[in-house]
Amino acid sequence: MRRKLAAGNWKMNGLRAQLSEIDAMQEAASGGSEVLICPPTTLLTEAVARAGHIEIGGQDCHARASGAHTGDVSAAMLADTGASYVILGHSERRTDHDEHDDEVRAKCKSAWEAGLKAVVCVGETLAEREASNTLDIIGGQLAGSIPDGATGHNLVVAYEPVWAIGTGKVPTTDQIGEVHDFIRARLERRFGAGVGRSVRLLYGGSVKPANAAEIFAVSNVDGALVGGASLKAADFVPIIEALNGASDG
Ligand code: PEP
Repeated sequence: MRRKLAAGNWKMNGLRAQLSEIDAMQEAASGGSEVLICPPTTLLTEAVARAGHIEIGGQDCHARASGAHTGDVSAAMLADTGASYVILGHSERRTDHDEHDDEVRAKCKSAWEAGLKAVVCVGETLAEREASNTLDIIGGQLAGSIPDGATGHNLVVAYEPVWAIGTGKVPTTDQIGEVHDFIRARLERRFGAGVGRSVRLLYGGSVKPANAAEIFAVSNVDGALVGGASLKAADFVPIIEALNGASDG
């Protein structure tokens, strides 16, 4: 049985006052699904201190455990704050920082060595979808970004079409289902049926209270990675509640 996961990516948003939103999410976070908030690095320690029922994670890490890498944060440092997860290979990292699959894979290894669970993001651009290359792109990203040694405990995969992030555009439920079924099949083929079936698959891209229940009803959708709508409890709580009420896909 895969435990459902509602994950919030705060990106580069939030000063300390923002942490009161975490307090307001606590009740919904005790409703069955796992809830994860990934605040900016500056807020991690305080977020962990008031996490309660909520898991806390980072948004990226360096591939090395320490060294001369000014401005970077290692997986060991994230773990040292009490964080339990890290998002890796988000499309904004792939675009803004020119991150490629091999780097995401090295970061993932480093995260696992530090005892963190990795949320590895994959997703196609609009041009790739329009050229009917979506599944090839996703297959390549999965093969390249996930190291050997994945388990249902250390890995979560987030399918985030680049064109749906922060745009208000959402794929149809058929399109989401096709990609999630494909990811599940690829994980089963590479890691075996037991592991492949135990890895949680999140959909991400303009998830809102109004569309969450419909998305959570899609096969092989085990939750969501949510950007904008995770910043305020008023938006994220209904999404968590929709997930708490969703049946297993
Ligand atoms: C994201 O950044 O991972 C994301 C899904 O953003 P949004 O929900 O704002 O589209």
